[in-house]
Amino acid sequence: MSSVNPIQIPSRLPLLLTHEGVLLPGSTMRTSVDSARNLQLVRSRLLKGTSLQSTILGVIPNTPDPASDAQDLPPLHRIGTAALAVQVVGSNWPKPHYTLLITGLCRFQIVQVLKEKPYPVAEVEQLDRLEEFPNTCKTREELGELSEQFYKYAVQILDAVSLEERFKMTIPLLVRQIEGLKLLQKTRKHKQDDDKRVIAIRPIRRITHIPGALEDEDEDEDHDDIVMLEKKIRTSSMPEQAHKVCVKEIKRLKKMPQSMPEYALTRNYLELMVELPWNKSTTDRLDIRAARILLDNDHYAMEKLKKRVLEYLAVRQLKNNLKGPILCFVGPPGVGKTSVGRSVAKTLGREFHRIALGGVCDQSDIRGHRRTYVGSMPGRIINGLKTVGVNNPVFLLDEVDKLGKSLQGDPAAALLEVLDPEQNHNFTDHYLNVAFDLSQVLFIATANTTATIPPALLDRMEIIQVPGYTQEEKVEIAHRHLIPKQLEQHGLTPQQIQIPQVTTLDIITRYTREAGVRSLDRKFGAICRAVAVKVAEGQHKEAKLDHSDVAEGEGCKEHILEDAKPESINDTTDLALPPEMPILIDFHALKDILGPPMYEMEVSERLSQPGVAIGLAWTPLGGEIMFVEASRMDGEGQLTLTGQLGDVMKESAHLAISWLRSNAKKYHLTNASGSFDLLDNTDIHLHFPAGAVTKDGPSAGVTIVTCLASLFSGRLVRSDVAMTGEITLRGLVLPVGGIKDKVLAAHRAGLKQVIIPQRNEKDLEEIPGNVRQDLSFVTASCLDEVLNAAFDGGFIVKTRPGLLNSKL
Ligand code: ADP
Repeated sequence: MSSVNPIQIPSRLPLLLTHEGVLLPGSTMRTSVDSARNLQLVRSRLLKGTSLQSTILGVIPNTPDPASDAQDLPPLHRIGTAALAVQVVGSNWPKPHYTLLITGLCRFQIVQVLKEKPYPVAEVEQLDRLEEFPNTCKTREELGELSEQFYKYAVQILDAVSLEERFKMTIPLLVRQIEGLKLLQKTRKHKQDDDKRVIAIRPIRRITHIPGALEDEDEDEDHDDIVMLEKKIRTSSMPEQAHKVCVKEIKRLKKMPQSMPEYALTRNYLELMVELPWNKSTTDRLDIRAARILLDNDHYAMEKLKKRVLEYLAVRQLKNNLKGPILCFVGPPGVGKTSVGRSVAKTLGREFHRIALGGVCDQSDIRGHRRTYVGSMPGRIINGLKTVGVNNPVFLLDEVDKLGKSLQGDPAAALLEVLDPEQNHNFTDHYLNVAFDLSQVLFIATANTTATIPPALLDRMEIIQVPGYTQEEKVEIAHRHLIPKQLEQHGLTPQQIQIPQVTTLDIITRYTREAGVRSLDRKFGAICRAVAVKVAEGQHKEAKLDHSDVAEGEGCKEHILEDAKPESINDTTDLALPPEMPILIDFHALKDILGPPMYEMEVSERLSQPGVAIGLAWTPLGGEIMFVEASRMDGEGQLTLTGQLGDVMKESAHLAISWLRSNAKKYHLTNASGSFDLLDNTDIHLHFPAGAVTKDGPSAGVTIVTCLASLFSGRLVRSDVAMTGEITLRGLVLPVGGIKDKVLAAHRAGLKQVIIPQRNEKDLEEIPGNVRQDLSFVTASCLDEVLNAAFDGGFIVKTRPGLLNSKL
């Protein structure tokens, strides 16, 4: 043995603790890294700049330990193998991990652990020189692959430092292996005429598993299962191509030993193939009149959406095909988008399945993993079909606006293929690897905003906006739908609980702040749970109560309706116990159950000093009021912006300041030292609370002007006015979007007047009558008009204008 370039390993090595087998010098193995300690090691030693080739790790076999992520370092095996990391592959699925390809170089012994965190590093002593090893990598690889029961043995071999000792230890293993092979051969011969399928499976099991009496039964069962599977494949109505693949795979399966990981993979695959609804569908029934009734019964208000859905269904009925745009319902959470989707399925008599796309950033989530992956599985579309068991369900693609993108491919592109009627009859999931016809599936999408839907997808869809609800609509929805549903879910009856409309309104205004009704629904859930406890307690007591207890009226006494008390309360024969009287949810009960109100009106308090104005913002969650605040201090004319709106807001702020500076004289605006040069020796700080989306930045223009005008004039902005509008340098007010949602937000907040751009006047038609009645609107075409409306008595000091054009 020559000693060419003996490898000298570093005297300090980072230690990789692995429990996936023992790496012997000269062999190569893949190991999965997912513990915090090992991840840290890979990141800082292998991925940070240093070249892979020069990186040597100390690989220490570590007994599989369920708490491998525990903080403390487990007791370390003293001998390990220095290894070269040849390849690092990272993946986020199903959880963040790396797969390392490592080649063993030589063994080492730990002299001393130098540090434990974030990953262990040890001073080591090299135990052998690389050239000492004869070229028997193959044997070692085989040894390395020995199943778990040989794990301990393999570690001992690693520990056997002298060559002689090592041989001694390996020989029994080899003998054992040879015996196994002989046995296998013998059984094969013996059973040659038997059913071939069983041959490949049984003998191997006999060898790999230490014999146990029960195993034969298992095998028979497995065998029966395979026969069943084969029969299912034969009788399945899958297309020819799929059938061919299945036949091929089952042949392979029959030859495969059960202990092979691939056995389970192939079997799962085949089971999925026979289970998929290749040809199974429900029969559509569509009666537009019945559909209208159903939609109306299930949903209050949302007329525009219901109308459009009915049109869509009618066209489908007449044309009898599904080609055409995909409907996409866009609106804040909790406005009933999913619920309408479910109703569409119900009217058609189809199965319904929701596919949540929020946060999906890997295209294999849609299109599946190739079967070569361990743990591979089909994508969500194929999974959905398996779940519903028919090939023509309604699939609700939820939150298409929240699709992500990553290195693992663009899921939007995969989705596009799914939705394209030209392509989707031939949709090929990577896992299935044969085409599945999706053309009968009815897709409906939902989103909170169109801004983040990938353009190519947007192009395929017909957008239907679903705005938020007014308070009155919410009260109606609550009493017609939410409360009855919640009562039913909690096993309560109207005889046990009463929620008056004023209470509902209280919940809407003081416990929730949302465009939809989702939190409202949850609050009812909380109330029902609390009442259910009271009722159950009462029933419990009823069983063992003596009458004196009843007089105390424990449990829900304080919420009992006075007039609901039975006259015969003292009559021991028909004593009405608390559960038989409705529990009234009044404000006190509400406070008990939900805690103190979360949103009290704070508007007037916040507007009690100059430099604050209320703007209206649009967010994907609906409209919102936002307080824009400004302050000034000594400085050099700097503008500081805080809050989250970024560059767009900065532009609006600069426009606003420039306009005010050029009009300072006209409005008598001065800085702290009385100069009309507003920025002279002055810094300005503007703050926008979080909430609105960046895109909505410009619509705060008028609010910034008003807020700064208040700051420099020292006058208070009216506390019941909210405003929205984009501005130009010359002081014109330009139209903005989302008027309906914004106006609803102002109404929710109890404001009285809303200033909008004149060119948005037409949008007021969409606003429900009762909201319009409660509010007065000022439509402004220039900033003078805005300021006049925002300050009591107008803003222009000298020439006080006449009455404002308060419309509607
Ligand atoms: P989204 O999908 O828009 O987030 P959901 O469809 O999940 O909202 O609605 C939340 C809850 O509110 C559901 O229980 C739904 O039935 C109910 N809901 C929403 N809008 C209405 C409505 N107009 N009429 C009746 N119930 C409604």
